[in-house]
Amino acid sequence: MGPEEFRQAAHRLVDWVADYRASVASLPVRSQVAPGEVAGALPPCPPEEPGSLEAFIDDLDQVIVPGLTHTQHPRNFAWFPSNASLASVLGDLVAAGIGALGISWQSAPALTELEQVVCDWARQLCGLSPAWHGTIYDGASTACLVALLVARERALAGSAGSQREAGLQAAASPLVVYTSPEAHSSVPKAALLAGFGASNLRFVPVRRPSRAMDARALGELMAEDAASSRRPAAVVATAGTTSTTAFDPISEICEVASRYGAFVHVDAAMAGSAMLLPECRDLFFGIEQADSISWNPHKWLGSVLETSLFYLKDPAALVSVMATNPSYLRSFSEEPVVEYRDWGLPLGRRFRALRLWALLRLEGAEALRARMRRDLANAERLAKLVASEPGWEVLAPVRLQTVCVRHSPAGLAGEELDRHTLAWCEAVNSSGRAHVTPAQLDGRWMVRVSVGAETTEWADVEALWEIMRQAAKL
Ligand code: PLP
Repeated sequence: MGPEEFRQAAHRLVDWVADYRASVASLPVRSQVAPGEVAGALPPCPPEEPGSLEAFIDDLDQVIVPGLTHTQHPRNFAWFPSNASLASVLGDLVAAGIGALGISWQSAPALTELEQVVCDWARQLCGLSPAWHGTIYDGASTACLVALLVARERALAGSAGSQREAGLQAAASPLVVYTSPEAHSSVPKAALLAGFGASNLRFVPVRRPSRAMDARALGELMAEDAASSRRPAAVVATAGTTSTTAFDPISEICEVASRYGAFVHVDAAMAGSAMLLPECRDLFFGIEQADSISWNPHKWLGSVLETSLFYLKDPAALVSVMATNPSYLRSFSEEPVVEYRDWGLPLGRRFRALRLWALLRLEGAEALRARMRRDLANAERLAKLVASEPGWEVLAPVRLQTVCVRHSPAGLAGEELDRHTLAWCEAVNSSGRAHVTPAQLDGRWMVRVSVGAETTEWADVEALWEIMRQAAKL
């Protein structure tokens, strides 16, 4: 395809995307397809001959769109928001169109330097000090793994270290990682991938009703471990847990961790966007004492997916773990330059910063703040409605925009109540009129309503509440 043919086709596809967004509210939120239906509608063998744009668009309409759960739908309250703001889509389009290759500063200086600038803009918007240095990863899961690798090497400094002689096999005493049972599943996954071992992963109890990590219990566990020749190496604190948006007490955790020189990573995947709101910053009290933090502008803020910010205080520690220096990747610069390949796992990277740059540059921070404030107000209003309705309860403090609810009719408990919860939740989701997430809390099912799709207004939240009430009566 040459540039002129691309121009024609792209104009049509931009119209297609705009039409999709303009009409998404009329589609069922949750995909109605059965497993295998999408694959079955596609040819089993790859095409040898070129296809027409018409046929391609037809496939989009007939096969791809029905096979989507529409995360950009105003009545999508499932999981966490996954906003792909159209301003950010423009940045992503340009990134794909330019096709820059991020393998060194030299291979695309603008790719590296825009990432530095945009990470610094986001830092400023969050009220974080200039001590933080950022990069963009695909997700918070990667960030947590990288943070734990850095923590591991810091704990091993002066002795073994993965890159010396026998590597981790030579470590004299086990290194221990601490997190809470409310942490995201990517945290234990990262600890295991980083080689800490299941028996060196401690789940620190949480306090009630906040579900925040109990820093005193953390101190006790660390003291026990240190007394039995284990080394407290890292704590992963969560700012905004996935099930209830609980905030671990970062300041207290950092104070305890500092007694043992343990690394503190803060996973703020969803809630990090709230740092843009000065009135929410108390939730992150102590963040400056941590060693690293990650948050996803691709959730609530509106950057297209795979825009996860990772900040740390000591990039040299990260580079010492990740650096490679093959001769063909040298940047020919007299000045020191940032080589982002040494800040993470992949070598070749897309022009990731364009997505977030376009969002900030075309929307401006104030519009993003206003949208998030709207969502906070809508969540609070919904929580009040739920709490004042007989038979319904709000199960956890509403810290941001996620409301955890249960309908408990008199006489129903235990597994019967679970069946009722799953039944009304499925009735909501299978109706296609709204989409919410069932999740377990203390082993019992509840329903998470996560307000915050870019197009969700109060009328959508009110409609959801009505749909939920009707479904629970069935
Ligand atoms: N941490 C928390 C608290 C999350 O809520 C999530 C996902 O929702 C993740 C980590 C994983 O993020 P990612 O999908 O960017 O890897």
